[in-house]
Amino acid sequence: MSGADGIAGCDATPVLKERGQREVFCGLTGIVWLHRKMQDAFFLVVGSRTCAHLLQSAAGVMIFAEPRFGTAIMEEKDLAGLADANEELDREVDRLLARRPDIKQLFLVGSCPSEVIKLDLSRAAERLTERHGPQVRVLNYSGSGIETTFTQGEDACLAALAPEMEATDAEQLLIVGSLPDIVEDQFLRLFGQMGIENVHSFPARRREDMPAIGPNTRLLLAQPFLGDTLAALQKRGARHLPAPFPFGADGTAQWLETGAEAMGADETRVAEAIAAPRARARAAVAKVAETLRHRRIFFFPDSQLEIPLARFLARECGMSPVEVGTPFLHRGIVGPDLSLLPEGPVISEGQDVDLQLDRARAARADLTVCGLGLANPLEAEGLSTKWAIELVFSPIHGFEQAADLAELFARPLRRRAMIERMHPARVGA
Ligand code: SF4
Repeated sequence: MSGADGIAGCDATPVLKERGQREVFCGLTGIVWLHRKMQDAFFLVVGSRTCAHLLQSAAGVMIFAEPRFGTAIMEEKDLAGLADANEELDREVDRLLARRPDIKQLFLVGSCPSEVIKLDLSRAAERLTERHGPQVRVLNYSGSGIETTFTQGEDACLAALAPEMEATDAEQLLIVGSLPDIVEDQFLRLFGQMGIENVHSFPARRREDMPAIGPNTRLLLAQPFLGDTLAALQKRGARHLPAPFPFGADGTAQWLETGAEAMGADETRVAEAIAAPRARARAAVAKVAETLRHRRIFFFPDSQLEIPLARFLARECGMSPVEVGTPFLHRGIVGPDLSLLPEGPVISEGQDVDLQLDRARAARADLTVCGLGLANPLEAEGLSTKWAIELVFSPIHGFEQAADLAELFARPLRRRAMIERMHPARVGA
């Protein structure tokens, strides 16, 4: 298949599937952005000191604020099954909720250790809901590294929330996936300008604002890593609207148009609402694209954002993707982006990290997008890298952020060019 402009896309490209050693963060990482979004939620990781350490270092500044996440540390005696871990967990939750009446939703987050001892957190969540409901809703999901990569934590969390939504028959549009508030507000404003008022976000910022769902709900995913969430929402009768993800001027326009069309908005009004911010975004991206044009980029599989991002970088910034790796290729979700990604790159799913490192070294792309663990060794080999996790922590969706998104890729290239000018002998050493 090809895009409207006749450029052949990647939907017929054979996918290189690999199953081997992976180098990615676990799903606990999602707590770092989820706790910012859901302002009356608390995430209690039932895990080890390693889990606590990961969260604290990933969350950085949060340790200075009144935190909305914590770790119920499982000691060795728990792991050996000598103590009743359930009793300890209940005590921990009682203490927490007595101290923090502002908590309205409590997530018990499973980890590798809780999985290893087979602690049944869904039973614990039921038991604790009976004890503390209706003031507090207690849910559970797994963020363990055995089961999840880093963006799957959000997927598991939202999938756990889906059955809790009230039912409705109202015609409505649901934006699915946690976005920074500022980006969410921009989208709501744009839909408002198109005359579409019945638009809600999932997850909501507070429990009392949680949207309802039903057969007349149309789902517009804002994040491509929400496969389980999508299935859970479809089970409630809602209909998915496949669309390119809202990255860049064109991706954002098509995403908005898809939502507007499904809601029966007036075409002229939609075009008017989109025209000015799209033109501004295009102009701003074009400036940054001067640094990116014709540069080759290699994506390791980390966040599931890779295919939509590669589409944006290829089509709007003139980059040449060499390999686009993704942990999972969900065609129902990223199909539209795959069709728009110009033919050429290797599309790979899953990971065998040593084999992929060999390919990355052979390709020596101008920019390699990868996890923190791979970035330093590759930098030492003279490759420029971009940390995949930054793309999840930064506001990158929508018209107003399009140039910032391009800039995230341009910065490491400019940095390298500067080092090359200053110390020509050090680069590639
Ligand atoms: S859940 Fe597993 S992978 Fe994640 S920090 Fe804890 S022990 Fe490590």
